[in-house]
Amino acid sequence: MCQNNKYKNLKWDIWNSIWRNDDYLQIKQGPIPFPVIDRRVSLRYYKKPDLMDFSLSEEHLMIRQAARDFAQNELLPGVIERDEAQKFPSAQIKKLGELGFMGMMVGPKYNGSGMDTLSYVIAMEELSKIDASASVVVSVNNSLVCWGLEAFGNEEQKNKYLTQLATGAVIGAFCLSEPEAGSDATSQKTTALDKGDHYVINGTKNWITNGNSASVYLVMAQTHKEKGHKGINALIVEKGMAGFEIGPKENKLGIRGSDTHSLIFNDVKVPKENRIGEDGFGFKFAMKTLAGGRIGIAAQALGIAAGAYELALKYSRERKAFGTEIKNHQAIAFKLADMHTQIEAARHLVYKAAWEKDQGLNYDLSGAMAKLYASQVAMDTTVEAVQIHGGNGYVKDYHVERLMRDAKITQIYEGTSEIQKIVISRSILND
Ligand SMILES: Cc1cc2nc3c(=O)[nH]c(=O)nc-3n(C[C@H](O)[C@H](O)[C@H](O)COP(=O)(O)OP(=O)(O)OC[C@H]3O[C@@H](n4cnc5c(N)ncnc54)[C@H](O)[C@@H]3O)c2cc1C
Repeated sequence: MCQNNKYKNLKWDIWNSIWRNDDYLQIKQGPIPFPVIDRRVSLRYYKKPDLMDFSLSEEHLMIRQAARDFAQNELLPGVIERDEAQKFPSAQIKKLGELGFMGMMVGPKYNGSGMDTLSYVIAMEELSKIDASASVVVSVNNSLVCWGLEAFGNEEQKNKYLTQLATGAVIGAFCLSEPEAGSDATSQKTTALDKGDHYVINGTKNWITNGNSASVYLVMAQTHKEKGHKGINALIVEKGMAGFEIGPKENKLGIRGSDTHSLIFNDVKVPKENRIGEDGFGFKFAMKTLAGGRIGIAAQALGIAAGAYELALKYSRERKAFGTEIKNHQAIAFKLADMHTQIEAARHLVYKAAWEKDQGLNYDLSGAMAKLYASQVAMDTTVEAVQIHGGNGYVKDYHVERLMRDAKITQIYEGTSEIQKIVISRSILND
């Protein structure tokens, strides 16, 4: 109680200072009695004006519009056919690369667009409204491959690989899952034996997005079994390396346009300079990279939900039953009200996680919450969008059945919903 009063007074002082001089940096370095408040409290108070500003910058609005236009003009035509035929959107991904969407957060030094995470999630949201098969390719390339390489790769690796990946000239894949190591990613059976100047990889990876379309693969493999997950390495493998085979394509429920394959490694020789980070850094690399990747998948889920909602809203204004548009039936209007509310809540979680990442704050908790919630909203919203469409919702022409099938994967990959709850509960209980 006493503590609370102290903070209350401090807060008052701080706000007085803020009103007196609104330059944030000046305030931060100014006469605020910092030592008596912990970092979280101080950050919250000092950052409050930023935190409560929900408006997007002009740049963010432009990115939203560019992604929206691209989705309407380039992704929408043929999206049903690509889903049906499980056809990878090669031409569309090439154009996305040319427009700078494949390396959005990569610095210009490595041919990237130099944007923030918020820009990336805004783009992901818009692309996913129309085509989640294309958006997962964008997501893996941006947040698992490019981000991982830029954050943890060395200069040679960045110059050799990142510069190509950031433009979409080549596509990347992130290879952690195995037949017996999914949620329990520590149980890596794939080995990377240390042979002096190179590693020899043996084993199988499962469910790899961009499995065949990629040219650069970030592969996690066990080097020092006795050290458990601290013995895992992350290695850059190139398509075409001897002994590296691509298994058959998975025939999936949703995101059917993306290509998901198993990968087989038979004595694949990888030079030591292709190891990311120190010896044994691989598991940490994977976890840190996935923590950011989750924000991208949360944005994908948000986009799928928003896309289904927009279609349902439009349909409810056009379709008539019992002499009136179905929107006039309260049962339908209330479904739309729920969808709208949940999507807005999901958007706040997703944008906040992106914002925290951009501020250099810890985003493990916010990213997990965003993914957990947005993926549930994607499922709930798409099911209701099909319901609002009645019989038409059950056929392909109206898009919502595809969005419903696509939504499910957001509860599974880059950590299932159950795993997100483990991350969240550990975070709040250990706080
Ligand atoms: C289309 C698709 C694309 C994918 N892309 C990639 C990719 O690019 N790269 C990659 O590395 N992987 C990829 N994956 C793999 C994906 O990340 C895994 O499928 C996911 O992590 C779950 O692992 P699993 O399938 O082995 O399920 P399991 O780990 O066997 O889980 C089965 C069930 O048990 C639950 N469970 C497991 N452990 C616990 C626990 N401790 N507490 C509570 N519940 C638990 C899970 O939540 C799930 O419901 C992809 C998967 C799919 C389907």
